[in-house]
Amino acid sequence: MTEKEKYYIDLYKKANKMIGDKTPLKKDCGTVCGGACCKGDSDTGMLLFPFEETSLTVKEKDGVRLAVCEGHCSRSERPLSCRIFPFFPYVTAKGKIKVIPDIRGVNVCPLVSHFSEVKFDRGFLWRVKKVGRLLYADEACRDFLCETAREIDSILSIME
Ligand code: SF4
Ligand code: SF4
Repeated sequence: MTEKEKYYIDLYKKANKMIGDKTPLKKDCGTVCGGACCKGDSDTGMLLFPFEETSLTVKEKDGVRLAVCEGHCSRSERPLSCRIFPFFPYVTAKGKIKVIPDIRGVNVCPLVSHFSEVKFDRGFLWRVKKVGRLLYADEACRDFLCETAREIDSILSIME
């Protein structure tokens, strides 16, 4: 294993540990929607972060790597995107991390569309922010976070 591979394995281990067993709500949000974000099929997938490894099948679409599942996984091995969904550590124009509901998930997750009415677990949101700060310190992850933030900006501007 190269130094770089080892570095990223350790980085994501740290990020995953930060989220721990926290989830967006204090209860299982899957009971709200029937686990809508885990209805895996081969046409969709969860975005992998830069150099993130997974035991799931990986496919590339438009230059991005996606982890594909069949709607079930070993919870301890799920990708970081699944752990932080439906939130994203958004990078502001001033380079600050702000945790926002990920608008890209609006058609899947009712927590995104009903964001203002939901009482989220603040501990979970805080951990997503910590993960954002951790990843922001890495160049490849910082680029990924910034590109994703600009993608979110453009989706939001179209919706306005
Ligand atoms: S779609 Fe949203 S509410 Fe449903 S399980 Fe996934 S994160 Fe929870
Ligand atoms: S990898 Fe696991 S947590 Fe992620 S969408 Fe698939 S079943 Fe859900």
